[in-house]
Amino acid sequence: MTTERKEPKQVDPEVFRRRVEELIRNFESELQTENLRPKVLALVPIFHGLRDLGKALIPSVYASAARDRILYYFRKYPGIVIAGDELLVVSGIQEYARRVRELRVQFGWTVASGVTIKEMSEDQDADIPNELMAMKPSDYVLLNELQDRDAAHRWNVANTIRKERGSVRDKILKYMRANVGKGITNEELRYVAGDKTEWARRVRELRTEYGWPVATRSTGRPDLSVGVYVLQADRQSPEHDRHIADDIRREVLRRDGYKCQDCNWSHEEWNPSDPRHLEIHHIKHHAKGGANVKENLKTLCTACHDKIHRNEK
Ligand SMILES: [Zn+2]
Ligand SMILES: [Zn+2]
Repeated sequence: MTTERKEPKQVDPEVFRRRVEELIRNFESELQTENLRPKVLALVPIFHGLRDLGKALIPSVYASAARDRILYYFRKYPGIVIAGDELLVVSGIQEYARRVRELRVQFGWTVASGVTIKEMSEDQDADIPNELMAMKPSDYVLLNELQDRDAAHRWNVANTIRKERGSVRDKILKYMRANVGKGITNEELRYVAGDKTEWARRVRELRTEYGWPVATRSTGRPDLSVGVYVLQADRQSPEHDRHIADDIRREVLRRDGYKCQDCNWSHEEWNPSDPRHLEIHHIKHHAKGGANVKENLKTLCTACHDKIHRNEK
């Protein structure tokens, strides 16, 4: 039986299936021997045959290399949880995880791992669909069908900041401030944090304790995909409007329809010459005993919010 390893061209998977079937049938005689080694040796071509069959499932006109087959598979099932073993089958290589990382880092596909989604969900009851909440560490999901052409550049910046001294929070903030207005992914933030699980908590603190306008799908920007974070402006909200918990923030934003309660501005009207975002304002100031309850909070665009605080002075 030949075991030469040629990249199959447009071959019908049925050809590979028959080959595997034949090999398994022949394996019967090896299985009956007492010796271990002939069994192992006879299994080798079966392994290769299975691999060729897996690779042949995606025609080479669509994807001839392992990484392309992985991408083809992800794009066929966006938003669907894919097990690592599925990628093993379609790619035909053991080190598929490395190819996934290349898709993410060099090509800007927002593929998140089960590890990252879990860390994200542990710290915020964000709008994470139930099927993602159930992901295993070895699972993956393509979160966005669009390729992000700036990703490679950002990952380079992330790599620099990751190596610097400083706390995880400092590094995350620095990375966000280097990318104001741009969508950055959970995987990038985790990487900047040196793969430390605390990254999600630190991001939340930047928003809830330090007043940085870090928006997600559930905290002001329902247009964003799961796992995407945007520092909307390089400014912190006024001291007294900080310390609002995410669940309260979410309720207020939803109640107010994601619109400024003074001028009706919403993020859909955003443009570079008038870059506003939405903030949460205390009607009775927090410092004067105004509570962090939704009855005392309202959504304002940054222009109207600034005006209110200017007029108080
Ligand atoms: Zn306004
Ligand atoms: Zn305010």
